[in-house]
Amino acid sequence: MTSDTTGYGLLRNPRLNRGTAFSLDERRRLGLEGLLPPAPSSLMHQVARIHMELSHLPTDLLKYLLLSDLQARNETLYYAVLMSDPATFMPVVYTPTVGEACQKFDHIFRAARGVYLPITARGRIRQLLAQWPVADVRFIVVTDGERILGLGDLGVGGMGIPIGKLSLYTACAGVPPEVCLPVTLDVGTNNAELRDDPLYLGLRQGRVRGAEYDAFIDEFVETVADLHPRCCIQWEDFANINAVPILARYRDAVCTYNDDIQGTAAIALAGLYGALRITNQSLADQRVLFLGAGSAATGIAELISQAMVLEGVPLAEARSRNILFDVNGLVIHSRTDVAPFQAVFAIEHAPIADFAEAVRVLRPTAIIGVSTVPKLFNQSVIEAMTEVNQRPIIFPYSNPTSRSECTAEEAYRWSKGRAVFASGSPFPPVTVEGQEFVPGQGNNVYIFPAMGMAVYATEATRVTDAMFIVAARAVAALVTDGSLATGLIYPPQSDILEASLEVAAAIADHIFDHGLARVPRFADTRAAIRERAYRPEYRSLI
Ligand code: NAD
Repeated sequence: MTSDTTGYGLLRNPRLNRGTAFSLDERRRLGLEGLLPPAPSSLMHQVARIHMELSHLPTDLLKYLLLSDLQARNETLYYAVLMSDPATFMPVVYTPTVGEACQKFDHIFRAARGVYLPITARGRIRQLLAQWPVADVRFIVVTDGERILGLGDLGVGGMGIPIGKLSLYTACAGVPPEVCLPVTLDVGTNNAELRDDPLYLGLRQGRVRGAEYDAFIDEFVETVADLHPRCCIQWEDFANINAVPILARYRDAVCTYNDDIQGTAAIALAGLYGALRITNQSLADQRVLFLGAGSAATGIAELISQAMVLEGVPLAEARSRNILFDVNGLVIHSRTDVAPFQAVFAIEHAPIADFAEAVRVLRPTAIIGVSTVPKLFNQSVIEAMTEVNQRPIIFPYSNPTSRSECTAEEAYRWSKGRAVFASGSPFPPVTVEGQEFVPGQGNNVYIFPAMGMAVYATEATRVTDAMFIVAARAVAALVTDGSLATGLIYPPQSDILEASLEVAAAIADHIFDHGLARVPRFADTRAAIRERAYRPEYRSLI
């Protein structure tokens, strides 16, 4: 036995530590007698103790810190707490609280977690990555800290994101925590306030760009592939200028994806599939008008187009049914300010500068708001949508709530209860025309943990767009008729583990069907996924 599997060292080993839950027999055999208060607790009592402690803390950041300390002390108990009530704890260990934790990273730093790769260590990435004590890492979430949530460049403080996101992979879909590794690539920061802060923990230099940055990313990807050949790399919160080319460069070379781009598009597509269960229409018949033509709009538009292709619509026609409208109006061929990634969605049409007019003229079945500008789905837009559709699909997806293109109450009231509504940020239920509506929130958490679990279980070689379409369909299929009757088109977050395991099984079947698995096909995919899912239970140590 080594020192961290027995005696005092065992109590400092978060993976094996049970704290007060060590039985009297275990304490005798593992050299723990005298090191713990005499009366053993059950895991259930430990969870209750943490719940009680959390309930007395006045801020979410303090709750985040308590949970973060717990993760460093007793991993099983940490996940038992998270999984006891995921809907409550997700916003504490991830957005929005993690944003504040990243901003204050250098002032609240506690135990180190994950691997930090500074660009100054170029040429030695293998040596640094190999310091991580796990031989077969299967899942990496990596950031370079440049576009952390909506908060911008937080430098090395971005590490809170891979750590928090990986907690959700485990808590929401059962990806075993021991195979997960959070990584931060420190290429400097352009945030002057951070660089001037004496407590800043990252490189005090401007961001490296261009060939040197690309070579660093190359070295990272190659080293991961070499050290951990079954590992999937998930890129997180990179600025668009890097996120898009990085995904393009590696998506066909290794197992990798970008949740901001692909997961986000999938959750919007899931919302559309869910809405179609209410409107009783097919995807192929939809015409979607986007308010906004940025990365979110074009990513969603492309995935919807790909999904339409699967229903027999030629790609060019599918793209022409996903119409963009930005700050300069309708995106049409004759415009000279359209970037190549937008141009594939440009249509042949006269200019239109007013969004409500665009709705009246183009008669979309759905409008998706990804403009970052609040209130643009105003009364005349919603009324125009209600004029041209029996059940208008209205998705204001801009985050946070203060930027939502409209509120749930406005969409239901102005459409006289006919809107099929979902939003990027949560809204409480509303009663309009005597009926209660439950607005759904398009949250990536229905997609990425399930994707991670499917990739982990099947040891997938690649992550394809088709896998995200499968995930979107599976999410929509999980919405009950009862939920649909209240207008809710996403599954409830309280059932996230069950939902994720179902979605993961659907993705896994697709992975097998397309020859992308590195393990033999499971006899029963759902059972195999469940069998491999992590459960927060103490393992026997004697
Ligand atoms: P972006 O900055 O790349 O794009 C914004 C787009 O909106 C641009 O095309 C711009 O021209 C357009 N725009 C700005 N003002 C406008 C106006 N007055 N009228 C019409 N168009 C206008 O941003 P992005 O990365 O694409 O993200 C957009 C928003 O979508 C963010 O708030 C993000 O949080 C949200 N989002 C939500 C989800 C979700 O599912 N919940 C998914 C993706 C993105």
